[in-house]
Amino acid sequence: MKVAIIGGGISGLSAAYYLEQERAAGAPVEYSLFESANRLGGVMFSDRVGDCLVEGGPDSFLTEKPWASQLCAELGIAGDLIGSNDSERITYIVVKGKLVPMPDGLMFMVPTKLIPTALTSLFSWSTKFKMLGELLHPPRPVGKDETVAQLVERHFGAEVVDRLADPLLSGVYGGCASSLSVRAVLPKFVEMEEHYGSLCRAMLAARNRLAAMRKAGSYKPKPLFSSLKGGMQQMVDAIVARLNPQNLHTSTSVSQLAPKSGGWELVTSRGPEKFDGVIFATPARIASKMLANINAQLSDDLGKVEYSSSITITLGYLREQLKRCPPGFGFLVPRSEGTRMLATTYVHTKFPFRAPDDKALLRCFLGGASDPDVLKLSDEEVTALVRKELKQIIGLSANPWFVKVYRWDRAMAQYTPGHLERIERISATLKQMGNLSIAGNFYKGIGVPDCVRTGKEAALHMASLARDGQSVKA
Ligand SMILES: Cc1cc2nc3c(=O)[nH]c(=O)nc-3n(C[C@H](O)[C@H](O)[C@H](O)COP(=O)(O)OP(=O)(O)OC[C@H]3O[C@@H](n4cnc5c(N)ncnc54)[C@H](O)[C@@H]3O)c2cc1C
Repeated sequence: MKVAIIGGGISGLSAAYYLEQERAAGAPVEYSLFESANRLGGVMFSDRVGDCLVEGGPDSFLTEKPWASQLCAELGIAGDLIGSNDSERITYIVVKGKLVPMPDGLMFMVPTKLIPTALTSLFSWSTKFKMLGELLHPPRPVGKDETVAQLVERHFGAEVVDRLADPLLSGVYGGCASSLSVRAVLPKFVEMEEHYGSLCRAMLAARNRLAAMRKAGSYKPKPLFSSLKGGMQQMVDAIVARLNPQNLHTSTSVSQLAPKSGGWELVTSRGPEKFDGVIFATPARIASKMLANINAQLSDDLGKVEYSSSITITLGYLREQLKRCPPGFGFLVPRSEGTRMLATTYVHTKFPFRAPDDKALLRCFLGGASDPDVLKLSDEEVTALVRKELKQIIGLSANPWFVKVYRWDRAMAQYTPGHLERIERISATLKQMGNLSIAGNFYKGIGVPDCVRTGKEAALHMASLARDGQSVKA
């Protein structure tokens, strides 16, 4: 069975890796991967500037989601996995131009400790009273999908949406709390509301369960984020090293797809080619376009997935230039502060192996769903803007010794209300079609581990079709 993989980001590369493993284990399967850019990895890209490591796209992944670390173990690079320096983890929120540390006991955006919540200047007294009253929230049956902002506001009020939900979600999804689906993005919150009513009581119960497991030795806390000594690019390079270079076609865009004698004909810049199965690992809009004349409903559902664009900019400093910078992982900026910068990470503090002891790296994030025009700014304008805002927020006016700007056009899928229903319909149609699969950050989770998972699942599906000798008609 010949399988085409369209897209060579981490989703498509994971599909290729697991197809290669299946082939090596005897599945009668071959694959070709087509990537329109001249390099593999998609938004996963690490750069070196002198002795500093700079991430253009993702800088890490959530440790608790296993698929990326499992892949690293299979690739033989588990020894290079590094954890975030959680003992130094202080994250600040900018409130009226000042950095306010997130209070101790805040689990995602839910307070679980009374005294730090009472003493913090992150929330007004009316929000604090609302948080106390939240403990009495009655259980609520799961209803129609709603936005994260609607659920959070119901429990804690609008200030928590502005100061916590929005900044936290713009960091992860490049999206706004008022447009992301709570069922898709925070399903645990929906479950907690259904069973406990109060999110605070539910989080307290979860915290107590973890404490008991810790005491019994059945739970060992892991670093929140994992990365690799050589940067996220190390994962890309390790996958590519395991693949046959003849199967990898960079600078080769796929422009058309058509059903042909039980399989598919793909048109690429190399001309038409026939395959028995296809894995789409592109943004949903690309798959939507190619499927328009093949399955209207599938194409329509894929076409409805929205994306946001972003810019990351890393500025290199000497450590002594940041003497006045408060310690920690960095800060998040609520949109109500009126800056364009959404977040800044102190990379040299968050991870080891990123900068030598005398150097510091600040990585700022701009764009997201609320600022679609960010890509119109030139590199010079982005740099000037970020430097002005760093001066306003942390008083940093020193000249960086380098600046690197990376642009990601419509790269972050937005899980808007109704997303899960769309994905269910997409999955059901793909099941019927059989020899067409999908992987990518719009499918089952935005982060790197979920992209690896979707690539793996698509590959295993194709390998099982190959093993069964099936060829289901499109
Ligand atoms: C700035 C930024 C920071 C992030 N930070 C984190 C983080 O810290 N942790 C985390 O877990 N996740 C993070 N994410 C999310 C995560 O990195 C992405 O969701 C994931 O890498 C997407 O991988 P992908 O392969 O699905 O898509 P992509 O990387 O977008 O790859 C899709 C590929 O398809 C190719 N393509 C498109 N059309 C065609 C065509 N017609 N023919 C051939 N090829 C085509 C594209 O060129 C591209 O290379 C971040 C994302 C961004 C943008």
